[in-house]
Amino acid sequence: MSKMQYVYVHAMGNEGLRELEIAKGIRTREETLSPAQIELQPKYCPICKESNKHNAKFCFKCNFIISKEGWLEDKEKEAEESKKKMQELEAKQEILQANAANVLGTLMAAEMGAKPPRLEIITWNSDKGSEGLFKAAEITRAKNQARERDHQQRHHNPNNRRLVI
Ligand SMILES: [Zn+2]
Repeated sequence: MSKMQYVYVHAMGNEGLRELEIAKGIRTREETLSPAQIELQPKYCPICKESNKHNAKFCFKCNFIISKEGWLEDKEKEAEESKKKMQELEAKQEILQANAANVLGTLMAAEMGAKPPRLEIITWNSDKGSEGLFKAAEITRAKNQARERDHQQRHHNPNNRRLVI
C-alpha cells in the first residue's frame, strides 16, 4: 500500500467508525464536531424557525428562550420581580394598617368627647415607581416604633402605676 493510499483508507476508516457510532447512538453528531465547527452551527428557534448564533440565549427575532442559560436568566429575573412585588405588598399593608389605626384612634377620641389627635394619613406618589412606596413604609415603621416606645414609657413607668390601677 502506498503512503497516499494508506492516508485515504485511514481517513475513510475514521469517518466510517464515526458514522457507525452515531448510528448506534454511542455519540451524537454534535459530539463529533470540533469547537470551531460547533460555533458555525446555527441554533434554530422552535417557535419562529429563525436561525440564531450557536450560543444565543434568546431568539433574536421572537425572543423565545433557546438555551439553558437563557432559561436560568429568565427564572432569575422572574424571581427578582416576584420578590419586589412581595416587598411592595408588605409595604402597602404596613401603611394601610398604620392609616387604619390613625383613623380609628381619631374616631375613638371623638366618640369619647376627647380632643382627637392630629389625623395623619400616609400616602406616596405611585408615579415614581416603588421607591416612594418603600420610603413611605420606612416612615410608617419609624412612626410605629416611636409610638411603641412612647406607649411603653407611659405604661411601664413605675410612677404611673397607680394611674393604671
Ligand atoms: Zn424565534
